[in-house]
Amino acid sequence: TLILALDFGGTKLAAALVNAGSREWLGYERRLSPVKANAETDLEMMRSLIHSLLGGRKPGAIGVSFGGPVDAMIGKVRLSHHVPGWENIPLRDLLAQEFGVPVSVDNDANVAALGEHRFGAGERFDSLFYITVSTGVGGGWILNGQPWRGAGGMAGEIGHMVVDHKGPMCLCGKRGCVERLASGPYMARDVREVLENEPPLSPRFQPGGSQEGRGEVLRGLVGGDLGLITGKVVSEAAAAGDELAVEFLARAGWALGMGIGNVANLVNPQRFVLGGSVMKAGERLWDVVRKVARETALPEVSYEIVPAALGDDAPLWGAVALALDTIS
Ligand code: ADP
Ligand code: ZN
Repeated sequence: TLILALDFGGTKLAAALVNAGSREWLGYERRLSPVKANAETDLEMMRSLIHSLLGGRKPGAIGVSFGGPVDAMIGKVRLSHHVPGWENIPLRDLLAQEFGVPVSVDNDANVAALGEHRFGAGERFDSLFYITVSTGVGGGWILNGQPWRGAGGMAGEIGHMVVDHKGPMCLCGKRGCVERLASGPYMARDVREVLENEPPLSPRFQPGGSQEGRGEVLRGLVGGDLGLITGKVVSEAAAAGDELAVEFLARAGWALGMGIGNVANLVNPQRFVLGGSVMKAGERLWDVVRKVARETALPEVSYEIVPAALGDDAPLWGAVALALDTIS
């Protein structure tokens, strides 16, 4: 049976084709959304992508990962935070009508968690929490081998768990949530602000080093144009020993570790699977995450923190699992 997997990523759309039971794509296509994308242009692009991929063949089922809140029970998109026009779009029914096959739709963090569970770093683990740390911070649960979406579909929102109630204000209206401290764009913004004003940092996050070299590598990497600082630049500067970058990367790790440790205490999953571009920052970040999580979780609570195995393809593989589950 041919399985079609779709990933609506916000700025890009991906589609892949696989034979049920196989672990290799038969076909794979990824396209960037136009700058002025809306739900209409996204759907049009997806149709053309699907048709070029299928080339006349008919899939047995379709699975969809959507980058935004979804009512998975009925496969309806609630909205997109990136693309206008997605309010209350019955994506499952639209695709089911067009292709005449079973379709399953869920939010990207839940789907990625399912992907890692069935095909990646969570294989053989019946309970896991998947976290992606990228432009935002999202999470998805597998409990008793099944996705746990929460009563209203909002489970897994570790991004907006508060870990420092006196911390900086997040777009969600709260202070010091994990996403506010650990996402790439927020980390970059805070580093930029320090370089612009050089205010003293809260002593908690000061590693106690000298002021020399603080921010110098950062400034060098962007040729003095502070607007060019990104999460990636911060992690590169940290790797080169820039103390300011090290400080903020450590703060991101601290926030993630604090969140993970609290979640471990509360739910006690076997594994935490961490993915997303920010986690590419390397061992310097991972070490802090592991250390702070260990300090936060009770000594009796055991768990592992491991890197995601599927990278950007986690939502697509999760979509394959969703599709397979509709026909098995
Ligand atoms: P997307 O996830 O939307 O494809 P990217 O993966 O390029 O976007 O980046 C998402 C965020 O992760 C950005 O804020 C970026 O700066 C940050 N990022 C990318 N690579 C790294 C890295 N090696 N270390 C830390 N942050 C990174
Ligand atoms: Zn928040």
